[in-house]
Amino acid sequence: MSTKTDWILQELESLKEAGLYTNIRTLGSPQGAWLVVDGKKVLNFCSNNYLGLANHPRLVQAAHEALDRYGVGPGAVRTIAGTMDLHLDLEKRLAAFKGVEAAITFQSGFNANLATIPALVGKEDVIFSDELNHASIIDGCRLSRARIVRYAHNDVADLERVIKENKGTYRRALIVTDGVFSMDGDIAPLDEIYQVASAHDILLMVDDAHGEGVLGRGGRGIVDHFDLHGKVDIEVGTLSKAFGVVGGVVAGKAEIIAWLRQRGRPFLFSSAMTVPDTAACIAAVDLLEESTDLVDKLWDNARFFKAEMKNLGFDTGHSVTPITPIMLGEAPLAQEFSRKLYENGVFATAIGYPTVPKGKARIRVMISAAHEKEDLEKGLEAFARVGRELGVIS
Ligand SMILES: *Cc1c(COP(=O)(O)O)cnc(C)c1O
Repeated sequence: MSTKTDWILQELESLKEAGLYTNIRTLGSPQGAWLVVDGKKVLNFCSNNYLGLANHPRLVQAAHEALDRYGVGPGAVRTIAGTMDLHLDLEKRLAAFKGVEAAITFQSGFNANLATIPALVGKEDVIFSDELNHASIIDGCRLSRARIVRYAHNDVADLERVIKENKGTYRRALIVTDGVFSMDGDIAPLDEIYQVASAHDILLMVDDAHGEGVLGRGGRGIVDHFDLHGKVDIEVGTLSKAFGVVGGVVAGKAEIIAWLRQRGRPFLFSSAMTVPDTAACIAAVDLLEESTDLVDKLWDNARFFKAEMKNLGFDTGHSVTPITPIMLGEAPLAQEFSRKLYENGVFATAIGYPTVPKGKARIRVMISAAHEKEDLEKGLEAFARVGRELGVIS
């Protein structure tokens, strides 16, 4: 007898057969260099906690103090009764940190994209979008109902070509790109993209989720990295990666931020970041403004690990950031590699289709400032052992 949901069971089964079923591990410890995963202590090579802030004592303390003063929740959507002075404080601090006129926060980076893109373009408009953009950009583009024109990944000549092809067919246009592409660790050529955007007078938006707290002076992001202050119209970021908490941010010109407070649907129809999240993020900005030590350590660790992996003979792709993909090809091999790493005390998830193209499965190692040299050495030993066992390296 078949039921309405049999197809789901079949789909789940075929994911398992293809090595594409995601087994979600359970953590029994805070985020850090080491984790307790399904009851076992393992080295953490998976999280986006670039600076080790997710369990930083200063952030934890700030959250505690705010809880004592404000309680837990924001109480309503922000336009009705859910904007606390904490939220405005965080936005001012983020704007100052990034060197922009204004900033607005959202519940997540995903929501920041869903809010921003449909507020800026609509049915009569066009979006020029890098073909490898993050899912939240793609969904934001779709929600806007603007025509979506994809250009080849990081290919500025192709961007120019599609703009010329579509000239005169739209009311407004938007160019949107990830800053750092999270699966390969490459960076958008934002300086060249800016030249094109400026030549054609098109709004330019970058989603710097993996660049915030990582790229630029003291982690000020990709716009700072390319010294494009005042030139990129919209910078989207997340507070869930290097900032170690949760939340999204859009930074840019005052009128754009003011417009998002009026027309960003996740801002208008979903409640704000919670009290402890907001307070912890303010403490994260404090830390980043006080010192570049954590950002420097992140990059030192990443350079060391990447060089050693190359020496071992692994293909680490073409990352220019702390994101270190270990290219393995087929998804079942990547899954087996990940399983064996776990047996060897290392937590590093396999990533396959649809997150990356078919045949480009990998283990993505996320290095952080929370790691010590000896942690990285332990990780390298495990990779060498498993790599030899599976014939990936000799
Ligand atoms: C992680 C990520 C997001 C989502 O951020 P959250 O705050 O976790 O919702 C959005 N865009 C890009 C490019 C990302 O890498």
